[in-house]
Amino acid sequence: MEHIVIIGNGIAGITAARHIRKLSDKKITVVSVESKYFFSRTALMYVYMGHMKFEHTQPYENHFWKKNRIELVEGYVSHVNTQEKIVQIDGAPDLNYDKLVIATGSKPNKFGWPGQDLDGVQGLYSKQDLELLEENAPNNKVCKRAVIVGGGLIGIELAEMLRTRNIPVTFLVREDSFWNGVLPKGESEMINEHIREHHIDLRLGASLKEINSDEHGKVKSVTLAESGEQIECNLVGLTAGVTPNIDFLKDSGIELGRGVKVNRFLETNVKDVFAIGDCAEQHEAIGNRRPIEAVWYTGRMMGETLAQTICDNRMEYKPGHWFNSAKFLDIEYQTYGWVFSEKRKKETEAHFHWRHPKEKICITLAFDKDSETLLGINTFGIRLRHEIFDRWLNDKRNVDYVMEHLVDANFDPEFYKNFEAQIVSKYNSDFGKSIKLKKKNLKRIFQIA
Ligand SMILES: Cc1cc2nc3c(=O)[nH]c(=O)nc-3n(C[C@H](O)[C@H](O)[C@H](O)COP(=O)(O)OP(=O)(O)OC[C@H]3O[C@@H](n4cnc5c(N)ncnc54)[C@H](O)[C@@H]3O)c2cc1C
Repeated sequence: MEHIVIIGNGIAGITAARHIRKLSDKKITVVSVESKYFFSRTALMYVYMGHMKFEHTQPYENHFWKKNRIELVEGYVSHVNTQEKIVQIDGAPDLNYDKLVIATGSKPNKFGWPGQDLDGVQGLYSKQDLELLEENAPNNKVCKRAVIVGGGLIGIELAEMLRTRNIPVTFLVREDSFWNGVLPKGESEMINEHIREHHIDLRLGASLKEINSDEHGKVKSVTLAESGEQIECNLVGLTAGVTPNIDFLKDSGIELGRGVKVNRFLETNVKDVFAIGDCAEQHEAIGNRRPIEAVWYTGRMMGETLAQTICDNRMEYKPGHWFNSAKFLDIEYQTYGWVFSEKRKKETEAHFHWRHPKEKICITLAFDKDSETLLGINTFGIRLRHEIFDRWLNDKRNVDYVMEHLVDANFDPEFYKNFEAQIVSKYNSDFGKSIKLKKKNLKRIFQIA
């Protein structure tokens, strides 16, 4: 029986395993060093915040794996011998494979800052990081202040987590506005305000020079590069992005760039070796996408696609329209298609932006200047129907059409306030249009003929 070995039990590896099982009787072994059972990494924050226990982050009961004949091995893969098709594992016997899937995810970036390995300095990625955070920052008596370095999605999550335990937080963001390499100006500025309203000491245009130690090798303070200011703290959270976790593959003969290089079929340069999820790097980016996408749902899609290939239905990875969602403290964010920040925006991309006068709610639509075709949408504090935007992007709808039918896209629960009338009114005034909002139509939403 063909033996499929998967390294990594994150969303990518486990999705591949589940789908290979659905499609075949192959022997499947998943090796992972972090935990025996798959858990939802995106839910880690809620464990620290007391909303759930770690066990609740595991979507499958422990008996699921035996029932589905997916063998789980705990251990660190230190070497892959692609000639002999052997995986060497620290802490477990070697495994022979017929096909190998590398799904080893990411690790937090460290940029060689002096003091980056001191006690009390950590990233937020793994189950072990969560446990370490409990030790380093159980409360505001042990951790009188935390400094977070790096203003992305994980940084803001860490800030939110620490604030739930009343730990003062200083948040260092190198850019002059939060996440403005990704978010357009209006949105990024709204999030700056929101962070500050949550009593987080947000420092824009501030970068880390060094982390200073006390006499026991524990972090005592950080020094800022620009001003030389020293900020006393007991925890430094390093959240300046992530890098593929692939060091163990260096002498394996598998082609590496920043990640494991793969083609559109998620195949590496070595026969029968594949890579998926955060650690996979496309030789050439797909459309506007980045060659490496460290995002939950792309890992899931790659796992599903690769299972087909492994089960003799060779399938190309086609991720479709970009979408993502996240949370900035209590503001929900969704994005569909492409809305670029001022830093990445093309000449031909126009934006329409509406922001609620009082609440932290806003929307940005991107469209082509000439054809007025919708390119993408970002929303903060308004929930949208994924399938509607997917359809509008597929159908290359014009931005006027989108405005007219905006109510169809709203997915907020009943009795939520709706803002479509205000949004359309601003659109009409910004662009000299006279769009009239259509009433919600279930037939149209669900495309009932
Ligand atoms: C705090 C946090 C919040 C996030 N929130 C979101 C979100 O809201 N939305 C979103 O889209 N994405 C989010 N992400 C990103 C998302 O979680 C990742 O994109 C996703 O988990 C990657 O899945 P993966 O299967 O590729 O790898 P991983 O989940 O990293 O799994 C890889 C596994 O392989 C193991 N491993 C690595 N090397 C070896 C080895 N040599 N031997 C054995 N085992 C090994 C690792 O220990 C790990 O368990 C978040 C990430 C973090 C850290």
